[in-house]
This record gives sequence, structure tokens and C-alpha cells, in this order.
Amino acid sequence: MEAIILLGGPGAGKGTLAEELMRQAGYLHVSTGDMLRAAVQSGSEVGREAKPCMEAGELVSDSIILKIIKERIKQEGPEAQFMFDGFPRTMDQAKALDVLFAEIGGTISHVFNLMVLSETLLARLTGRRVCKSCGAVYHMANKPPKQEGVCDVDGGELYQRADDSEATILNRLEIYEKQTAPLIDYYQKKQLLRDINASGTMAETDAAVMNVLNT
Ligand code: ADP
Repeated sequence: MEAIILLGGPGAGKGTLAEELMRQAGYLHVSTGDMLRAAVQSGSEVGREAKPCMEAGELVSDSIILKIIKERIKQEGPEAQFMFDGFPRTMDQAKALDVLFAEIGGTISHVFNLMVLSETLLARLTGRRVCKSCGAVYHMANKPPKQEGVCDVDGGELYQRADDSEATILNRLEIYEKQTAPLIDYYQKKQLLRDINASGTMAETDAAVMNVLNT
């Protein structure tokens, strides 16, 4: 079992990049944010617990995250290649992943550090719109749908995530700096960190990552 990790602040483009990498390199996209949003929609126990934290832009507890990650990994065989998007997000999650992989024989091959200026992050997040039915991601200025408010893929309605309001975004950026940015150093020390300039276009970011994967 192998995994790559996409690390980067909210709005760094992890989800969009992950959709591309899934197509081009066959990695299984595992987004804890997507899994939690699905849980909230279904009204499951995990969803009920996660909802208030997510709406406030706070982190969901490590125990819930580890539970959903373990369940997801169990669904695949030993040959699986995962791409973690939004996980790990705290030092405790990173350490728990190391323990889990030591138990089941998994290896982390690369940790991509998507680097974007915080002004850019704010602009990306406030303009973000998501399809209600398929989850496809748009941006009002950078990647508008052909018809306003309608998904190009399946005609679903586009909406703004509850946690994409400006106040919540600032909270998420702060939490990223405090809780997630320390992972950069953690993976640097393990020589797994690959810095990627993610301030350019999606195609440029994608090419930079593919370049590392192909060497
Ligand atoms: P973004 O990267 O744009 O902030 P995500 O979709 O990855 O958004 O996550 C949305 C929310 O889900 C987070 O703000 C947090 O509340 C919760 N969440 C997702 N992944 C984790 C995680 N690994 N640990 C704790 N909370 C998480």
C-alpha cells in the first residue's frame, strides 16, 4: 500500500489537483473534507458530530478522522495507491498515520507541499462554488461554469460552501498555520517533502507534481 499526501492551506488547490492526479496517475482520491461533508448530508453519527466544527472552520476531532480514514483504507487491497487530501492535518494525525502504516505495511512516497500566498488563498476561497450533486469545483473568476450557477458536468446546482464565508476562511487560515503547517517540518525531516509552487495555473501545479511522480 502506498500513499502520497497533498499538504497545503485551505484553497491551495488540493481538491482540484487531486481530481487531475486521479485521472492521470490512478491514485485513489481520499478527501477527509469530502467524506465529512457526505457524512453531514447523510445525517450519520459522524456527520452530526462533525457539522458544528466544520461550519465554524474548526478541526474535527482526531478520533473521528482516524476512524473514517481506517474504514476507507480497509475497503482496498494491498496494491492500492492513495492520495490523501486534507489528511493528516495535525501532528497527532501524522503520527497516527505512521503507526497505522507500520502495522499494515504502507509507505508514504511523497508529501507535496502546495505553496500559495495567503492573499491568493482568500481570493480563491471566496470565489469558490461547488456542485451540489457531483462535488465538481468551480471559481467565479478563474474557472467559471459555462452557465452561471449550473454544473458543466451534470447540470447540478452550484453553491457556496458554508465555511467559505470570509470570517470562517480567516479562522481556517489561522488554524492551518497553527496546527497543520508544523507538518511541513515533520515531513521535511523524513525527506518526504516536495515543495510545489501552487500560485500559478492549475495546469502548472499539475505538471510540477506529475514531474516528481515520473522521476
Ligand atoms: P479546505 O482544505 O478547503 O479547508 P476541506 O474540505 O479539506 O477544506 O475540509 C473542510 C473541513 O472539514 C475543515 O475545515 C475541518 O472542519 C474538517 N476536516 C477535514 N479534514 C480534516 C482533518 N484531517 N482533521 C480535522 N478536521 C478536518
